[in-house]
Amino acid sequence: MFKYDDTNIFAKIIRGKLPSDKVLETEHALAFHDINPQAPIHVLVIPKGPYVSMDDFTANASAEEIVGLWRAVGEAARLLDLVEGGYRVMSNHSANAHQEVFHLHIHILGGRPLGPMLEGGDIPPNGTWHRPA
Ligand code: 5GP
Repeated sequence: MFKYDDTNIFAKIIRGKLPSDKVLETEHALAFHDINPQAPIHVLVIPKGPYVSMDDFTANASAEEIVGLWRAVGEAARLLDLVEGGYRVMSNHSANAHQEVFHLHIHILGGRPLGPMLEGGDIPPNGTWHRPA
């Protein structure tokens, strides 16, 4: 797996070296608007600690950091008034998911009907995938 590189864009945002359009900041997490929104509301929630992705975070973060991040996801969605209309939460880990920034981030998307979970997905005709054993 990748080693954490603290010159990544989100690390610079945490250190205040790059600006962000902030939604929420807590002891363990920061939420800010995505620079290239894929929905009317597209916010990223990141842990303040140095974690490459969901894999690194769930293996190595403390219980306080994990709770802190997920509480911030819920709180940001409430602040953005997304609860009633609904929202989607996702996080990309590594190559198959197309992760581009190697500091864990959770996308919150909302503000319009979001369509199927994977738009343009190549679901097999019989609806079943072969799962690796
Ligand atoms: P990924 O593909 O890694 O899950 O998503 C990276 C996200 O970070 C993309 O949605 C992209 O638009 C966003 N992003 C990249 N650079 C910046 C930046 O400098 N500021 C903000 N706010 N978002 C960024």
